[in-house]
Amino acid sequence: MATVRLVNVNKVYDGGVHAVHDFSIDIDDKEFIVFVGPSGCGKSTTLRMIAGLEEISYGELYIDDKLMNSAAPKDRDIAMVFQSYALYPQMTVYNNMAYALKLRKVPKAEIDERVRSAAEILKLTPYLDRKPRALSGGQRQRVALGRSIVRRPKVFLMDEPLSNLDAKLRVAMRSEIVRIHREVGATTIYVTHDQIEAMTMASRIVVMKDGFIQQIGEPDYIYRYPANMFVAGFIGTPAMNFLHGTVEGGYFIPDAGKDKIALTKDQLKLLENYIGRRVVLGIRPENLIYEKSGRYEKYSKQSFELVRGITEKLGDIINVHCGLGDAEIIIKMSSKYNVEDCKTLRVAADSDYMRFFNESTTLAITAEHKEYEEAEVTPELDEDNVVIIEPEKENIFSRLSAKIKDKFSKK
Ligand code: ADP
Repeated sequence: MATVRLVNVNKVYDGGVHAVHDFSIDIDDKEFIVFVGPSGCGKSTTLRMIAGLEEISYGELYIDDKLMNSAAPKDRDIAMVFQSYALYPQMTVYNNMAYALKLRKVPKAEIDERVRSAAEILKLTPYLDRKPRALSGGQRQRVALGRSIVRRPKVFLMDEPLSNLDAKLRVAMRSEIVRIHREVGATTIYVTHDQIEAMTMASRIVVMKDGFIQQIGEPDYIYRYPANMFVAGFIGTPAMNFLHGTVEGGYFIPDAGKDKIALTKDQLKLLENYIGRRVVLGIRPENLIYEKSGRYEKYSKQSFELVRGITEKLGDIINVHCGLGDAEIIIKMSSKYNVEDCKTLRVAADSDYMRFFNESTTLAITAEHKEYEEAEVTPELDEDNVVIIEPEKENIFSRLSAKIKDKFSKK
């Protein structure tokens, strides 16, 4: 049983780089948490602070409710799996896995029991007598995992463990690691820049950018309800489409084209404080319905015309790249449709999947945010020019994009 709790954890490197800002999360026992975000967003730094390989500048880290800020890495009961794994070439698979336990003077019978049970989980039993060079890349990776598993740590930390493997093996190892996690049942924190790994492996995802958490949530939830335009664009391929425009007279009016997109009653209610204001409509490529589809009619009031560009063929589906003014809009549709002969095409937006964002803050407009958005985010500044947040709004502020937070806290 292991819970991990970070409370406003920050990292400021010696040179002054503020790599991680106020990172807070409660991780439950047996969760598989994935930190995801572009390179340099602070994922590894956060993981290394949890491992004790990097000092926490300020904030608190608890493992099983025990403050761990100053505990040595070996006293944290954590195993770290890196992307490059050095196996001992002269030792058998068995001894590679047993080595750390021998050093700790674990009794021989117990070592044997732990190694064999890890080998079962990892499907390495037939290879226990082999040397690493006689194993495939995936098998070697599993031995590296095995060395951590036999130690039975409370928490597994993995830093891009699959990035050195080729594409096919990476896909196979994704589901292997998930299966192993289920069998071992240890709390796991996994770092990757690959949003597909995050989506397929995580029980919860932490999306990061510029050292700030952007959103924490289950993969499906984040995919459907991204908290801001960064998350909307980062999670999902091809990325969510964005149409900039205004809300007027019951319609969303995109900046380009001649079509108006009718808003449903619920959408109008959500957007009631945005009449005459600029918003961004977000819609995923698979939620745009081609005019020849049977489902089109139902949403025809939300339809608009696009200029067709190139088509990517992916077998059963095609991604049709189109233009609407300056915006690139991608439609994901069945390859049974042939769009090669048309210069323009019409699509309808499935209203259940439309998302709206405040154009200036980039935050998703949700019922929860409405009251705050209404205030037009003109924060009060104290004498040092630092934004004053009323306590009840703190929660919402913590979800603002890094850019905006930065703007508000600039001296
Ligand atoms: P990620 O894992 O998301 O790629 P990192 O945590 O490695 O990001 O880095 C976050 C930021 O901290 C980056 O701007 C990086 O340049 C900086 N950084 C990382 N390590 C150090 C260090 N030892 N000294 C100074 N800055 C560092």
